[in-house]
Amino acid sequence: MKRFPFLDLRRINADYSQALRAAAAHAVDSGRYIGGQEVETFERNLAEYVGANSIAVGTGNGYDALFLILEGYKAMGRLNTGDEVIVPANTYIATVLAVVNAGLTPVFADPDPDTMTLTGDRTEAALTERTRAIMTVHLYGAPAWDAKMGRLATERNLIVIEDAAQSIGAVAFDAGLNGTTTAGSLGHAAAFSFYPTKNLGALGDGGAVVTTDPTLATTVRAIGNYGADTRNHHIYLGVNSRLDPIQAAMLDVKLKEIDAVNNRRRQRATLYGSLIDNPMVRTPYNPGSVWHQYVVRIADGRRDEFREYLDRNGVETDVHYPTPPHRQPCLSSFGVQRLPIAERLAREVVSLPISDCTPIDDVAEIASIINRFK
Ligand SMILES: *Cc1c(COP(=O)(O)O)cnc(C)c1O
Repeated sequence: MKRFPFLDLRRINADYSQALRAAAAHAVDSGRYIGGQEVETFERNLAEYVGANSIAVGTGNGYDALFLILEGYKAMGRLNTGDEVIVPANTYIATVLAVVNAGLTPVFADPDPDTMTLTGDRTEAALTERTRAIMTVHLYGAPAWDAKMGRLATERNLIVIEDAAQSIGAVAFDAGLNGTTTAGSLGHAAAFSFYPTKNLGALGDGGAVVTTDPTLATTVRAIGNYGADTRNHHIYLGVNSRLDPIQAAMLDVKLKEIDAVNNRRRQRATLYGSLIDNPMVRTPYNPGSVWHQYVVRIADGRRDEFREYLDRNGVETDVHYPTPPHRQPCLSSFGVQRLPIAERLAREVVSLPISDCTPIDDVAEIASIINRFK
């Protein structure tokens, strides 16, 4: 029987095979294996892609990018240990671990039940006297931003950090704090992940901080380089988190195609949306999304049955995410409250196969298999 793979990374990277090999060869022959031209070029191109006046700083991975932003603001005196940071309750655990490991207090906001993301209204509901920052997560590639979130941030002098790990190229309807609408340029600072499965995926780990604040960029770069402002002079209790030149070279090849990649993902998402017609299956509607995941919802406790049915018919699926962070054992000390929307989403969501390489015919076949689920 025909199988529909959830994600075929070999096939995705095969499209760039020649260019990736050439870029790797250049990095191998350069004699420079930390920093250098490959990293500088990719940082410049990424910054330009995200927005005017942006600065990009490569990091070891997406988690480190989040953590370094928070540590950077602490070093700048803008955040202090114990300050509250609002995070959406339905996110990948990395978002929350960065907050906790930076010595800050995560406050979980139940997401909007329609968009499945943080909104201005949901942010407002989680605000307290001690809120100092909002960590908005552009989940599944959909921008989690609206004018109200921007207004709250301005009025209350809150730092807005974007977890843009899943959302390079996504576009919000309302302008962000910089007057721009692209993911990564909406708030004060953004973290990108180049984990291999992300829309812009490296061939290993990689990440970046993007900001228009030159002081934050300099601070993040120093903290990620053992806290050194100049060679052998350490002003912060830093860490080691740098983007490898080989990964920077791979990413620079793929960055040139990211708009085409995202457009092919949009096409597939639009097709799923127009073809799936089953009262049991709720399809997502997120016009600005770059569709890192295409996530449908199955109510009435039938999610596992639906996934087994799809598997029997060759369709591989996944769940992002089956347990919300506040229900994870490591965060039990923070997760005393009930977060009904996040908990319901965790029971209902199913991610369908989607990538720029998923054949259009497969999308149609998967939709028709879904429509036969009773
Ligand atoms: C992937 C991801 C991260 C972490 O990125 P890594 O590169 O794996 O460290 C953080 N937040 C979200 C929402 C992610 O999807």
